Formats: sequence, structure tokens, C-alpha cells
Amino acid sequence: MLFEDLKGKSALVTGASGGLGLHFAELLARHGVAVVLAARRKEALEEACVRVAAAGGSAQAVQMDVADSASVAAALAEAAVDFDILINNAGISGAGRAVDLEEAEWDGVLDTNLKGTFLVAQAVARGMREAGRGGAIVNIASILGHRVAGNVSAYAASKAGVIQLTKALALEWARDGIRVNALCPGYIETAINRDFFASEAGQQLVRRIPQRRLGQPRELDGALLLLASAAGSYITGSSIEVDGGHLVSSL
Ligand code: NAP
Repeated sequence: MLFEDLKGKSALVTGASGGLGLHFAELLARHGVAVVLAARRKEALEEACVRVAAAGGSAQAVQMDVADSASVAAALAEAAVDFDILINNAGISGAGRAVDLEEAEWDGVLDTNLKGTFLVAQAVARGMREAGRGGAIVNIASILGHRVAGNVSAYAASKAGVIQLTKALALEWARDGIRVNALCPGYIETAINRDFFASEAGQQLVRRIPQRRLGQPRELDGALLLLASAAGSYITGSSIEVDGGHLVSSL
């Protein structure tokens, strides 16, 4: 049966204190994966852990700032797990006109989304290589890594970087049995953006999506499980877009 192989595996999910990361952690737990949840906010992580455990899984929380290699190393040492799966999900958006963007904002977005994705992938891949049993890395990018919109220059650049990084790592680590792929969500309704999408500006944006609606977190499940499990054993260096057709909207 599809995804059966996930049972008994271990996964690290970054940015799991809320939003899509918590959703992915619960999804994997429901499929029998022992999950380690990582993010900066300890209290939110503890609450997330309780929810994941309630989904029937084993869950552990470790505090981690993905943009800081020392923090990544300390968190992995604390978790003390040989990971089979990494969901590299931590990310921040950062919006504003390019002409006004402060250097610190640019650095924050690139350090979290691109450097953070690299640092965690590198640290986890080292462990996978040592354990000698390969693994699957899923980097959460965005359709903004493929096309652009106004006021998201740093974010779009960071996610384009994640897609290209995914290919580079897939090439280098294929011989170690480590698959590296990217999942590119379109606009997915979460607590963070629900108010915006209820507004007139948000509704206008939704009308430009060919399916004329936002995605729901559960609509990412198939793609995530495919890339994380043996169902995707011949897929590496790929990116899968789950966006209601947004990338093929009319120019
Ligand atoms: P969210 O609700 O804001 O969650 C972001 C998560 O990342 C939080 O758990 C946050 O936890 C964590 N995080 C941020 N900076 C971090 C850092 N330096 N170190 C460790 N953890 C950090 O956002 P989301 O909507 O779930 O997005 C999750 C991912 O999906 C992001 O990469 C985002 O770019 C991508 N995405 C989302 C959408 C969408 O429509 N929602 C669309 C395309 C792509 P702490 O604050 O506790 O650290």
C-alpha cells in the first residue's frame, strides 16, 4: 500500500510551531512517523507537540533557529535521532516595496528561507550519510520561486534560491541515497492569512487563481507524502507545484 513504508520512520519538521509545519507534523504522525518538531518559540512548540501526540504519533520538540548553524547543531544533538525524513518548512514572508526594503529585512528573509534551508539540509544529510541508509528531504518553496508578484522581492528571490538549491543538493546526494525535492504551494489558507483573504484585496487575488479559490493545507498532503515516502523513490531534484493552477494563470 502507498505510504506504508513511512511507519516507523523518523522525521524532522522545521517551522512546526504552527501553520503548515504543524499540519505536516500531524500528517506524518498519522502515518506512523516519529516526529521532531523544531522552531524558535518553545511554548508554541510544546502545544504543537501535544496536538501531534493526540494525532496518534510520537512527538518531540526542540528549539531551533534555522538561520544559525550553532542553534541547528545544538537542536540536532538534543534530539539525538537518526532522521529518515526532513521537511524543511521554516520560512518568513516579509513584504514591502523593493525600493524601501531595509538591508536587515532582506537579510532576515534570505537567512531564514535560503540559508536556513541549506544549514538544516546539510546537518541532517551529514547524519543520513553517517547512518548509511539514505533519506528524503522536502524543501517547502513557493510558486513565488517560479513567478513574481509585487512587493515580495526578497521572498521571491529566496524561494527561487530554494528551488535551485534543491536541484544542486539532489545531484550531490543521490549517490548517498538521499532524495531532495521541493514542494511549491500556491496560496494556502492558514490562520496567518485568513483575514487578508477575506478582504477585498485578498478576494481580488483569489479571482486570479484559475480554480478561483485558496488551497487548504490538506491539499498539500498527497504531494508531501509522495516526496517523503518510497512512493517517490525515483523522484529527486524535482519541484511539485500545488496551486490551483495559479502558475498557469493567463498573462
Ligand atoms: P507560518 O504560519 O508563519 O509558520 C512559519 C513557521 O516557521 C513557524 O512555525 C515559525 O516558528 C517558523 N520559523 C520562522 N523563522 C524561523 C527560524 N529562524 N527558525 C526556525 N523556525 C522559524 O507560515 P506558513 O504559512 O505555515 O508557511 C510555512 C512554509 O510554507 C514557509 O516556508 C512558507 O514560505 C511556505 N509557503 C506558505 C504558503 C501559504 O500560503 N501559507 C504558500 C507558499 C509557501 P517560530 O516563530 O516559533 O520560529
